[in-house]
Amino acid sequence: TDELIRKSDKLSLVGQLAAGIAHEIRNPLTSLRGFIQLLQYKSEDNKDYCGIMLSELDRINLIVGEFLILAKPHMVQFNDRDINQIIRHVLTLIGTQAIINNIHLDHKLADELPTISCEENQLKQVIINLIKNAIEAMPNGGTITVETGMHDENHLYIRVTDEGNGISKEMLDKLGEPFYTTKDHGTGLGLMVCYKIIENHLGELKVQSEINQGTTFEIILKTSISNKELVTS
Ligand code: ADP
Ligand code: MG
Repeated sequence: TDELIRKSDKLSLVGQLAAGIAHEIRNPLTSLRGFIQLLQYKSEDNKDYCGIMLSELDRINLIVGEFLILAKPHMVQFNDRDINQIIRHVLTLIGTQAIINNIHLDHKLADELPTISCEENQLKQVIINLIKNAIEAMPNGGTITVETGMHDENHLYIRVTDEGNGISKEMLDKLGEPFYTTKDHGTGLGLMVCYKIIENHLGELKVQSEINQGTTFEIILKTSISNKELVTS
């Protein structure tokens, strides 16, 4: 076990270093972005090049951002939160993107769910990543349904269902592997982030899919001990 402990210490040091570097990369990127935008407006000749530079910069930003989430699981604080409220917030955040892509965002949220102990922003990130993938799986539009409910006495579920192109049996095994993507402009990090965050919450992330029918991602999380229980026990 000594060896194991030392290994995980080293890992977290590397993780911290990586998170620090990722963070430091972002600041110069922001300043680069500003100057390229300035150039874009000033010179008609180089407009196209500037456009390419901006989209490449955005790509670096996306990868670094997803990497940051992976690298710093330490600094998170868990609080009791209403999952339905978190989902409603995410739905407003992503609403415009859905409309642009001809997607109808539906939701069926159960009443009176117990709270869960979670890092709100991380859970939002998971749901955003799942909905983004669902949108990208339906290039011709369709419906995405987000549902919540009780899985059993102590666990609730969050489901994101799409009517997209689905995932083949062979590909299901690869989900969550870093850089696994079937998209031209994918990073292949989104699901890895989801798995990592749900693991941090001691939850489960499951997937069910049928080619050309659609896909359901289901998150199962333990509900918080209610205040009442805490006082009486
Ligand atoms: P990215 O979205 O950048 O490709 P992800 O880790 O988010 O990376 O997803 C990895 C791969 O899993 C995707 O490229 C896609 O092939 C598959 N995938 C994920 N979600 C869905 C979905 N809802 N429907 C179909 N395929 C999906
Ligand atoms: Mg994705």
